[in-house]
Amino acid sequence: RLVVQNVSRSFGGRAVVRDLSLVVEAGQLTCLLGPSGCGKSTTLRMVAGVEEPDQGRILIDGEEVFGPGVRLPPEARGVGLMFQDFALFPHLTVAQNVAFGLRKGEGRAARVDELLERVNLSGFQAKHPHELSGGEQQRVALARALAPRPRVMLMDEPFSGLDNRLRDGIRDATLDLLKEEGTAVVLVTHEPGEAMRMADEIALMRDGVIVQRGAPYNVYNAPVDRAAAAFFSDIN
Ligand code: ATP
Ligand code: MG
Repeated sequence: RLVVQNVSRSFGGRAVVRDLSLVVEAGQLTCLLGPSGCGKSTTLRMVAGVEEPDQGRILIDGEEVFGPGVRLPPEARGVGLMFQDFALFPHLTVAQNVAFGLRKGEGRAARVDELLERVNLSGFQAKHPHELSGGEQQRVALARALAPRPRVMLMDEPFSGLDNRLRDGIRDATLDLLKEEGTAVVLVTHEPGEAMRMADEIALMRDGVIVQRGAPYNVYNAPVDRAAAAFFSDIN
């Protein structure tokens, strides 16, 4: 369970995220949706721990990872990351890529095999990234991010590098796996259609604040204002 409480962040005197609060339950997916520059990535980066809030608190499964006097480093937060420019390690095999965040030990090979099977890449263990299609690489990246069983998964436009033909399949596979693992997910996108397909809850952002949140159907059908309505009108 991810809890973000009253988090703010400014750059050069300009408030980019303002008093933002958000709760994502385990096994649930919240889409942060909004126009370019509204503060989506900055919000994710603060949860990940690569950007520091000016104020506020962040808790993961009840543990404070950021707050007054508390600043857990990214690797100690139990957070999985999948960003648009995800890169597999080119010199490592698929299996080595997936195993990267796992301690050596008995369960490791089994966990790698299990995840590869679940992203439909059984038998790809010994291949290298350059031998894979974009969609296959994407699925390896997903398996790698989930291997250490993160409590929270942060995805920043993870599907934007894929062509339309691949995208729906990968979205479905991703969603199935995240649900099975019971991970709390924040997915950033500026595509309303993607949010409608994937989200349990949509949080609509503008100028650093969440202006509306709710089930996709409700946000789509009852946008708070004209700008929100316009945003959903170019759904694809
Ligand atoms: P997009 O949809 O284009 O990815 P976004 O909602 O993810 O947009 P952010 O990356 O969070 O937007 O950026 C929000 C604002 O904060 C932007 O105006 C950006 O220029 C500014 N910003 C982000 N990071 C920094 C930084 N490190 N230094 C200065 N300004 C920054
Ligand atoms: Mg962004």
